[in-house]
Amino acid sequence: HTKRAGRNGYNFFEPSMNANAHQQLQWLQDLRVALERNQFRLVYQPKFSFSDDTVLGAEALLRWQHPQRGLVGPDEFIGLAERSGLIIPIGAWVLEEACRQMHEWLSLGYAHWKIAVNLSPVQFADPHLLDVVRAALEKHQLPPSCLTLEVTESTAMSNTEQSLATLQQIADLGVEISIDDFGTGYSSLLYLKRLPANELKIDRGFVRDLSEGTEDAAIVSAIVALGRTLNLRIVAEGVETEGQQQFLHAVGCDALQGYLMGRPMAPDLFLQTMREQPDGKAPSAQHKTAA
Ligand code: C2E
Ligand code: MG
Ligand code: MG
Ligand code: MG
Repeated sequence: HTKRAGRNGYNFFEPSMNANAHQQLQWLQDLRVALERNQFRLVYQPKFSFSDDTVLGAEALLRWQHPQRGLVGPDEFIGLAERSGLIIPIGAWVLEEACRQMHEWLSLGYAHWKIAVNLSPVQFADPHLLDVVRAALEKHQLPPSCLTLEVTESTAMSNTEQSLATLQQIADLGVEISIDDFGTGYSSLLYLKRLPANELKIDRGFVRDLSEGTEDAAIVSAIVALGRTLNLRIVAEGVETEGQQQFLHAVGCDALQGYLMGRPMAPDLFLQTMREQPDGKAPSAQHKTAA
């Protein structure tokens, strides 16, 4: 609270830096008990296919039901979880819970759905990652093909030979790989060609200002063409308007995700909403085989 402004920048900022450090410590303490107290939740956002208007599945997104602060989004705590290493047990919980949920949907007849889980770069670099994935699948008797792991382009790109080896091991398990936030990293075409990926997700940042003739429109068209060439499914994230949807359809995007089609939802609401879709009944006799 002491006023030290004017002497130099460092002194001026010191009090808020201290406050921030104190806050961070509080968050860290809370984060440590969050797992034991069962305060994490997963919400699910649908992915829709353009070609036949079907639901491809859902992306699991992490939420923290904090006793005082309310529902906290991942951008508020994933960074701290990564720096403290807590992302490893939290990430394992996410994988396990997502597999449990997908198994439940499978038993309801949604056999063509896939559940997508986001991986932090820290998890991706963890030598136990494969064991954790395998254990989650086995615990819930989930076929590996029902699981997709989303890794950001920059994560997939760092330490390329090691990353390629890890991605190959994931692919060998039979789990699908999606390259998230695509366009924000610096993939070389040579590297992209070697990636054992199934899907590219165009970063929300390029989808925002999509209209004929803009730079982003050109970038999105180029990403779709690239994905075609490499035989990858192209998903656009962050679709909010019909104009964006029309543009993405016109350039040949395969699937969409965004508030226009569906917000991230708690499991009950997700299932209820999906039941209202054209293909939502999903009787087990009508399984569509995913490519
Ligand atoms: P992401 O994987 O790229 O997820 C997309 C984010 O965009 C989600 O934010 C989603 O709610 C939001 N979104 C979806 N559609 C729209 C739209 O139409 N408009 C706008 N404005 N936003 C949309 P969320 O849930 O806050 O997650 C943010 C990021 O946190 C994720 O980005 C992902 O990188 C990370 N994350 C989420 N869950 C997990 C997790 O379980 N583990 C790890 N390691 N990271 C996670
Ligand atoms: Mg994602
Ligand atoms: Mg993304
Ligand atoms: Mg993102």
